[in-house]
Amino acid sequence: MDEKNHCFTTKKCPECLTNLPLNAEKCPDCGKKIGEVDKTGFAKRPVNWLSYIISVLAWVALCLYIWWAFF
Ligand SMILES: [Zn+2]
Repeated sequence: MDEKNHCFTTKKCPECLTNLPLNAEKCPDCGKKIGEVDKTGFAKRPVNWLSYIISVLAWVALCLYIWWAFF
């Protein structure tokens, strides 16, 4: 048995707290993408790999620039 979702029939949008069906992938209220329900009844925020990678690259570029400028 999959016990992960057994006590929830809805999940809450983490952005606007709207109750949504468990199979919803996007909140119709605020338009945010949402993941599966977690153990607190909130929908998980899906990991946004693109923005994660961009922010890491921005930090690397900043560090290289500082290193290049001062050493
Ligand atoms: Zn929402």
